Amino acid sequence: MSFLKEIQKRRTFGIISHPDAGKTTLTEKLLLFGGAIQEAGAVKSNKIKKGATSDFMEIERQRGISVATSVLAFNYRDKKINILDTPGHKDFAEDTFRTLTAVDSVIVVIDVAKGVEEQTEKLVEVCRMRNIPMIVFINKLDREGKDAFDLLDEVEQKLGLRVTPLSFPIGMGYDFKGIYNIWEKKINIFSGDNKQTISAGVEFDDINTPELDKLVGETSANTLREELEMVYEVYPDFNKKEYDEGQLQPVFFGSALNNFGVKELLDCFIDIAPNPQPKMSDSRLVDAKEEKLTGFVFKIHANMDPKHRDRLAFVKIVSGTFKRNTPYLHVRHNKKVKFSSPNAFFAEKKEIVEESFAGDIVGLHDTGNFKIGDTLTEGEKLNFKGIPSFSPEHFRYVNNADPLKAKQLYKGLDQLMDEGVAQLFTLDMNGRKIIGTVGALQYEVIQYRLEHEYGAKCSYENIAVHKACWVQPEDEKNEEFKEFKRVKQRYLAKDKQGQLVFLADSAFTIQMTQSKYPTVKLHFTSEFK
Ligand code: GDP
Repeated sequence: MSFLKEIQKRRTFGIISHPDAGKTTLTEKLLLFGGAIQEAGAVKSNKIKKGATSDFMEIERQRGISVATSVLAFNYRDKKINILDTPGHKDFAEDTFRTLTAVDSVIVVIDVAKGVEEQTEKLVEVCRMRNIPMIVFINKLDREGKDAFDLLDEVEQKLGLRVTPLSFPIGMGYDFKGIYNIWEKKINIFSGDNKQTISAGVEFDDINTPELDKLVGETSANTLREELEMVYEVYPDFNKKEYDEGQLQPVFFGSALNNFGVKELLDCFIDIAPNPQPKMSDSRLVDAKEEKLTGFVFKIHANMDPKHRDRLAFVKIVSGTFKRNTPYLHVRHNKKVKFSSPNAFFAEKKEIVEESFAGDIVGLHDTGNFKIGDTLTEGEKLNFKGIPSFSPEHFRYVNNADPLKAKQLYKGLDQLMDEGVAQLFTLDMNGRKIIGTVGALQYEVIQYRLEHEYGAKCSYENIAVHKACWVQPEDEKNEEFKEFKRVKQRYLAKDKQGQLVFLADSAFTIQMTQSKYPTVKLHFTSEFK
């Protein structure tokens, strides 16, 4: 069965980091190794530049770029690698969380000088909750940074990981001489002063050999020997099963900019990273090796050009083969649909393909039939789990500013919410609509897009909401739940799926409410069943 071989070849992963840690640079170096691009600078960073936080046109422009970098695929050794882009800007955090539902593993990039930063913490927490296998890459070793052991401690403590270094730096910053590859027992040394070229890797089974002293000098050689002794003593040995289960995280050191330590990372990644994994649906666990196609939409990208209202829905293939012009069941609509021009991704290009396999991403042109979380199958009625909504951080009432365009407004809001741009809540009490977003900037984006794509106008009004809590009563009929609903009436709303949400005005309120009504559970994500 050749399709089984295709699936075994796939490695689908995401790179996560705090902005500026070096995600784009690392991605580019990985593509260079795969021969997918010819020169540095070919991969456009889709990160939103600093200072652009109030310039939503700039954001829109960059969103355009990010279509191209949404999936970067390349071949390396005998594997097909799909890198899923995870937008780094805080305003797109939710997009990134959702992308993590489509990866089989991740690489976490950390800046050696800055250590563990805020966004890394948030993203790693999501990966940890899902036991996604992670490899850590500590970047910018060509600069002065924190001590390697201190950093490993920080990674363990702040990120709650259990680490095992698989490479170790020889010096750092000005004294950065090279990398000892623990995984392959090899050493790579910079040649020359400019640290731009690498002398060929030398195999070092025995690091006590005097050869090492000749290569890096006696002091550095001895320091490395001591440090490695400590590594072997303090950290657990690599264990593939623990890594697969998200219980152990290998760590690599290097400099993406100088392409140092990157090949070590990639070679080990190819050896250990998981191929497409089974995924839980509402009815059963779906295995990647099943012949029949299943897949789900994890991202929708609007077309930048208002004349072409079509969107690109990104589908992660969970099992089987996706074929062009073949009817598949759109489970939510209970309707067969086929696609004449499914896009596959290669490096920074996309092209129409006949077949894609489990682990791959296909981009489907859509005029508004898809929303995030939608499932495609060959007829089975199942829905994939694990595409949660997270509580927004900002909330505002949305009002119709042009009474003649009410229909357009609601259609526009409906579609934008399906794209996952923001979340809409409807107050139980009076039916007023509230938009919740991850970043304040989204309000401008929504206003702009409503006007330019739907011809509708909206205005906003402040509302004091701290967080949206999805409500899960132990028993819908018990007195406690009834009282909760009576007392909190003014703060209750429905999300777009009709789930009950409590819009709490402060962290204190949440705490008080939870202790007063212990059988009514409050959740910060919509997925708790
Ligand atoms: P991203 O925001 O995580 O995608 O980060 P970028 O890849 O855009 O890198 C941010 C900045 O750090 C850029 O100016 C890079 O040139 C620089 N950078 C990336 N890797 C290294 C490295 O290994 N050493 C040094 N000195 N700078 C680096």
